[in-house]
Amino acid sequence: MAVALIVAAGRGERLGSGGPKALTNVAGRPMLDWSVRAAQAVSAIGTIVVALPGNYLNKAPRGTIGVVGGASRSESVRAALRAAGEGDVVVVHDAARPLVTPEMFAMAIVQFERCGADALVTAAPVTDTIKQVSAQGDMRVSATLERSRLWAVQTPQVFHRPALEWALSASPGQLARATDDASLIEQGGGIVAVMPAGDENFKITTPLDLRLAEMLLTGRRGR
Ligand code: C5P
Repeated sequence: MAVALIVAAGRGERLGSGGPKALTNVAGRPMLDWSVRAAQAVSAIGTIVVALPGNYLNKAPRGTIGVVGGASRSESVRAALRAAGEGDVVVVHDAARPLVTPEMFAMAIVQFERCGADALVTAAPVTDTIKQVSAQGDMRVSATLERSRLWAVQTPQVFHRPALEWALSASPGQLARATDDASLIEQGGGIVAVMPAGDENFKITTPLDLRLAEMLLTGRRGR
């Protein structure tokens, strides 16, 4: 049985909703609840641990274990993992992606078990041309990256537990800089596989994202 860690302890200031982003209402439910319900519908997932901001432990959805998150996203993952109990396969998911489906969780676990990597990330192909600017901050282009090799990484991400535990033993500074846990595994020479996923599983960052998610999830309500 896999364990699922759903991180919801961010402040989400760019959304401007006045409270923690993951608890903002989307299509009639707290954003977090959409991901929890999707994970609960997957037979391969046993325990679900949710990392929440300090004063919001009572918002852990029914059937989940709530823990207080950390100062950075990876520290929240580490706090959730400590509470997770047995299970060698760990699925990490951001509550800020409420459009995840049970099929996406299930497929990521199956593909991870087949691929032999230390971790597997879901990702969408990049459609924009990506330019890198110089480190001097003068907004001059230093490179145009080869688009066919670029993937915009999402969650769910699936890990062998020992690899994730090792990755999360990095210093607080390294953890704070990591925008996902798989990058810590890459830095240590581990193998990370990519599973192509659709672009509907976008992350809610801005009020526009929230409006779009509201429209899409309203159509799913009652499933
Ligand atoms: O800020 P961002 O949207 O990139 O955060 C991604 C996810 O990580 C969100 O679901 C957020 O709640 C979570 N997070 C966390 N603990 C933090 C920072 C972010 O659980 N300290």
